[in-house]
Amino acid sequence: MGHGEHAAKRTARLVEGARPCPLGVSVVARFWHTYAVARPTILHVDMDAFYAAVEVLDDPRLSGRPVIVGGAGSRGVVAACSYEARVYGIRSAMPSARARALCPGATFLPGRFDRYREVSARLHAIFSDVTPLVEGIALDEAFLDVGGAEMLLGPAPRIAADLRSRIGADLGLGCSVGVARSKFLAKLASEAAKPEATSGGIRPGRGVVVVAEGQETQFLGPLPIEALWGVGPATSARLRSLGLTTVGSLASVPLASLEAAVGRTHGRHLHQLAHAIDDRQVVPNRASKSVGHEETYATDRFDPAALHAEVMRMSDAVATRLRDAGSAGRTITLKVRYGDFRTVTRSRTVAQGLDASRDIARAAGSLLDALDVSPGVRLLGVSVSGLAPAGAGRVEQLCLGFGETPSATSDDRAGALVPVEGPASRRAAGWAAAADAIHEVRRRFGVDSVASAALIGPGGLRVKRQGDTQWGPSAPGGDGSDP
Ligand SMILES: [Mg+2]
Repeated sequence: MGHGEHAAKRTARLVEGARPCPLGVSVVARFWHTYAVARPTILHVDMDAFYAAVEVLDDPRLSGRPVIVGGAGSRGVVAACSYEARVYGIRSAMPSARARALCPGATFLPGRFDRYREVSARLHAIFSDVTPLVEGIALDEAFLDVGGAEMLLGPAPRIAADLRSRIGADLGLGCSVGVARSKFLAKLASEAAKPEATSGGIRPGRGVVVVAEGQETQFLGPLPIEALWGVGPATSARLRSLGLTTVGSLASVPLASLEAAVGRTHGRHLHQLAHAIDDRQVVPNRASKSVGHEETYATDRFDPAALHAEVMRMSDAVATRLRDAGSAGRTITLKVRYGDFRTVTRSRTVAQGLDASRDIARAAGSLLDALDVSPGVRLLGVSVSGLAPAGAGRVEQLCLGFGETPSATSDDRAGALVPVEGPASRRAAGWAAAADAIHEVRRRFGVDSVASAALIGPGGLRVKRQGDTQWGPSAPGGDGSDP
């Protein structure tokens, strides 16, 4: 199937799925199908150095300085860095120790996920103003199909430029936008639109790069093969050993030879990409299927009591997010990665959806008890899935199907809910009310205002937040290499 047919098929499906608009849908759709089939309508929007840029926005004293957001521990990695830091050769996913060596004067920040999420929500609200066809890829990155918006907002390249201006004006942040006929090309185009940090300084980017119809292979040709989705280190080495270094050289290889070199499925996939064929559609995001937290530790952990405290912290963070979303989940999953990278997950499903930290922690804690942690734990994670809107049945939920009702004597420390300041006051009953109250206080006064007693360590209250991690190797924030 040729590229034209692919594009036509994609566009046709898009037309079918397009939202009715007041201008006479069928006429518009037919017009658009006829004239717009070959036009680039997919945008890839990617914020520039997002986490670092938000930090600079909130503290203008950091402006123009090398800023690194990431883990400072021995296994910490750089999650994001300002372009000023990139001038020193610092990059996302680089070990923090190396980044520090490259630029000892850089400002290291641990990251504030709540704040990034808040800015991201505003960003996504702007996207939704343009089109309902938004596929969020990360907090700071999304695909938009603006094909159906062109009649109202103008051609896609103009929509891209306007969107970029609006993000700059409304959020005070920079972004880069790629425009093309496919997701894969739009993503590479936004990459090409980025500012560039070289040892000589920062070169401003083009902001918007459009890959026009008919120019796709020309755009792709000079790019290194690693630019293609699915070319990781092993494939890269294999192809380079055959003298294939650019996408253009790859495109000139017959399909059969490529299949022989890297396998049938992979070969076909790469052959198509090298010829600019990618008919994946922009799929608007579905509701998330699970909520979880995980953390990689600076050194392996062996102490079950310490691991239980970690489970409490993570459950607390998961519960806060569930309640913010008005969700509860029935399946609680514990993930443990040992020092030797062996990874196990254990799940437990209960009758009623859970959204209280204590309940989640009890379920996850019982899963932890069933595991041998003596080899040492490198990574721990707690997640809740099987989500549904939190509704009636709070009272039943407290009994959890664990066959016991919370009491003042069981689980004394782990379950006690106390104000951070003032005397502990708790009752055997009323956990649900307490959990609701805590959520409300946190919502109004911040997440550190109250917490379960078990979260109060020698150094004061420790509340787990997303991003409070060592930015382990699999932590978010790397530049997506994922198809
Ligand atoms: Mg980005």
